[in-house]
Amino acid sequence: MAIIAELRGTEAVIDLDAIRHNVHFFGQHVGEEVAVMAVVKANAYGHGAVPVARAALQAGATWLGVACAEEAGELRESGIHAPILILGASNGEQARLAVELNIDLTVFDEYGWEAILKAGSLYNKRPRVHLKVDTGMGRLGVFPDTLLSTWVPRLLDPRVIWQGLMSHLAESDAREPDFTREQLSVFLDVIETLRTHASLPPIIHLANSAAALRFPGTHGNLVRIGIGLYGVAPFEGAKGLKPAMRLGSRVTFVKRLASGRPLGYGRTYHTSAATTIAGVGIGYADGYRRALSNRAHVMVGNRPCPVVGRISMDQMTIAVPDDLSVRVGDEVTLFGPELSVNQVADWADTIGYEILTGISPRVNRRYLGV
Ligand SMILES: *Cc1c(COP(=O)(O)O)cnc(C)c1O
Repeated sequence: MAIIAELRGTEAVIDLDAIRHNVHFFGQHVGEEVAVMAVVKANAYGHGAVPVARAALQAGATWLGVACAEEAGELRESGIHAPILILGASNGEQARLAVELNIDLTVFDEYGWEAILKAGSLYNKRPRVHLKVDTGMGRLGVFPDTLLSTWVPRLLDPRVIWQGLMSHLAESDAREPDFTREQLSVFLDVIETLRTHASLPPIIHLANSAAALRFPGTHGNLVRIGIGLYGVAPFEGAKGLKPAMRLGSRVTFVKRLASGRPLGYGRTYHTSAATTIAGVGIGYADGYRRALSNRAHVMVGNRPCPVVGRISMDQMTIAVPDDLSVRVGDEVTLFGPELSVNQVADWADTIGYEILTGISPRVNRRYLGV
């Protein structure tokens, strides 16, 4: 698979020095007292979980975050011993895998709690658990009014180790800060209640990338950094991060179409004058989305060229300005330092996260700064 992709010249080049830079950037921002968790779920947002995790740990991240036990297993299998937290749900089988591999688990309901206890007794180990509180997201998390009656007694049970208290923010990237302030205030109340009437676990965490940069009050003693780790601005106007991925391909053909000619499936584009068209060896099966047809532009050298006609499964077409000479084999950048993934996401009516995680396995990953 990789060999085919390499020959085709369609690749995601991942700069691990950019990952290291971004870890330093967040580390400096939150200060020495606050640990950085590198969130490497979904194959490190498409960048490759193992190489990214290694680079992030080298740069000073001390925790890794994943979505599920299987992702944690991949990291352990590659010899990574750092603390790992599963941020999502775990069923019985997943809880067993996590406990076996010394992975921390998030608990937020009865079902998960039972699974964790069973896994602990099976391996004769004390599972390490982070309690997730719903402060307004409405998704995973126990309600604050169940803490003292139900959850604190459970977490103080000697069969588990109560490692963390956490919550998750619904719109820390939004222009309006009000709801984040509201969630933070609920979280601070929870902390105060536990401090006064029970006890607190050692690790308190709430912030994702956007909150880590915008809301210092959310830092606790650990921040969970995903999108920012990859150098993608977590909110409009965020500065100082370095994009880690460049998605590139190559010109596969060049031809001149006369004025008034249709182009591609559905004839969604017609030349309005004689136009040089170049084919590019990437399509929606690679994760360059069809919604970008007739909307996006790409970079050839430092020149933007519009995507014209429908994006197909394995290829697409661009219009080449008359004063730009393009040849078969020339490099084309779909996004990267010179064209942000957020811009591409805007054109496709989605978010950078979805573009990054949608880059398919057919696209070869090549690493710089290994
Ligand atoms: C994915 C995830 C993060 C990281 O969010 P970013 O916006 O990518 O920084 C943090 N916390 C939880 C619980 C997550 O699931």
